[in-house]
Amino acid sequence: MVERQMPQIVIGDRVQLRKKHPCGSDQWIVTRANGSDIGLRCGGCDRRILLPRGAFLKQLKQVIASGGDPAPKENS
Ligand SMILES: [Zn+2]
Repeated sequence: MVERQMPQIVIGDRVQLRKKHPCGSDQWIVTRANGSDIGLRCGGCDRRILLPRGAFLKQLKQVIASGGDPAPKENS
């Protein structure tokens, strides 16, 4: 059996997605990483979106920088 490899995504990570936001940026900051949805903030225009985990993993190109915030808090 092959286990699917799952990149470790934490709040504060800066990631690059295949999906480009209409504003032209393909970099996103993770604002929410627990649960079934991944919260992202656009690196270009600060717009927030939610992606189902599966869709996020499909769109993920690379993790540019790790946030590594030990005490993540959600502000909306
Ligand atoms: Zn944007």
